[in-house]
Amino acid sequence: MPQTYCVIGSGVAAVNAAKAIRDQDQDGKIILFGSEPALPYNRIKLSKELFSDLTSSKVLLKKEKWYEKNSIEIVNKKITRIEPNSSMIVTADGATVEYDKLLICTGAKNRKLPIEGVDLPGVYTIRERQEAEDFKAFIVNKENVVNVGGGIQGIETAWSLHKAGKKVSIIEAAPRLMARQLDERTSKLLQQKVEAAGVRVYVNTGIEKVEGADQVSAVIAGGESIPCDSVIYSIGVIPELELVSGSDIQTNRGIIVNECMETSVQGIYAAGDVTELNGVVEGLWGRAMDQGKVAGHNMASQTPVDYQKATPITVLNAFNLELFSIGMVDESQCDATITEESDEHPYTRVFIKENKLVGVIAHEGVAASLPYKNAIESQVSLMGIDFSQISIAALLTEVTERLTVSV
Ligand SMILES: Cc1cc2nc3c(=O)[nH]c(=O)nc-3n(C[C@H](O)[C@H](O)[C@H](O)COP(=O)(O)OP(=O)(O)OC[C@H]3O[C@@H](n4cnc5c(N)ncnc54)[C@H](O)[C@@H]3O)c2cc1C
Repeated sequence: MPQTYCVIGSGVAAVNAAKAIRDQDQDGKIILFGSEPALPYNRIKLSKELFSDLTSSKVLLKKEKWYEKNSIEIVNKKITRIEPNSSMIVTADGATVEYDKLLICTGAKNRKLPIEGVDLPGVYTIRERQEAEDFKAFIVNKENVVNVGGGIQGIETAWSLHKAGKKVSIIEAAPRLMARQLDERTSKLLQQKVEAAGVRVYVNTGIEKVEGADQVSAVIAGGESIPCDSVIYSIGVIPELELVSGSDIQTNRGIIVNECMETSVQGIYAAGDVTELNGVVEGLWGRAMDQGKVAGHNMASQTPVDYQKATPITVLNAFNLELFSIGMVDESQCDATITEESDEHPYTRVFIKENKLVGVIAHEGVAASLPYKNAIESQVSLMGIDFSQISIAALLTEVTERLTVSV
């Protein structure tokens, strides 16, 4: 009897899970339920390519034909209830669907700015494509945008707005831009580039209030009034737990899963931004993709696999600056770092902890990142090396040689 696999949510975790299920089970019925209209798309492009045609097929995760070829049914309906005792889910229009295995990939929602005036017309946050379209429509005749959040998403949105001819101010509560992925030197350089483009940057600054009579006219931040005609913010996410609240599926900040992506209820799995694994809620594209693959495989296979965290990589290509940051780049948690910068070689800094390469920041394009990523993931011991004497190129060579010997 063919199995029925239901997947709730139609983001990157869901699509990768569907593919992994199909790889294991050629006969099963796979249905993806998504509350957004149309086919699953690349959410990251909502900031990176905000002013491109977001309805173009280039934004889709997979073309329509791919779903047809793999017999994966897409149903654009919200799921409002899960009934584990009868292995059934309920759609917003009251229809019921029975499942053998269920996967929850409902993602996350943006954290709401907890300040007065946040509901005024002209204040936006983007998680879904329609929100991006609404924001773009609102700012057609507007000039001054305040962009709250100086993380990767905020910087990319600011770059898109700047290229579209808007005057932009960035407000960031932390002492520097992209503080989680960059060291002080690179954050400073990024800030210089952003400011050189004419964007005002306020770091160490909390937004206190949005002001306006019938729509936004200013924000109050750090005690200063900054005139603007629109506000866009991204200040973190919260797992989307509405569907499972009050059910037997155990949650904390996210849906609690084990390494196999199983929830506390047998036969029900979860993957992506909605999950919490070992106390950690990720909120990252690559992690959602990998978790989806593991969940899908385990739903359909007799030989389960564990989810392994890949080394995170952040790539920035904005404000005439190309850089990447991989792995752990918190100097305070490392034993040593090696920094190089010359006319021939752009700024590069590697981070070492317990005699292993754990992170890198390099002012280069993503194409240059692979040797570093491989070296970090190899976990090769660098015992015996004097980090104050060795060049980064020599260190990478040493990693390769030690790896060859140990294989
Ligand atoms: C603008 C933007 C830029 C980003 N940039 C980066 C980046 O540079 N790097 C990075 O690593 N990450 C980035 N992210 C985060 C990344 O997009 C997420 O980590 C990833 O999309 C999570 O995938 P997911 O499949 O778990 O959930 P989501 O992509 O959130 O998809 C979940 C889907 O489920 C649907 N859904 C929810 N509830 C229901 C329900 N009850 N019934 C049916 N459907 C439901 C939602 O509508 C949504 O379509 C960015 C996010 C945004 C919004």
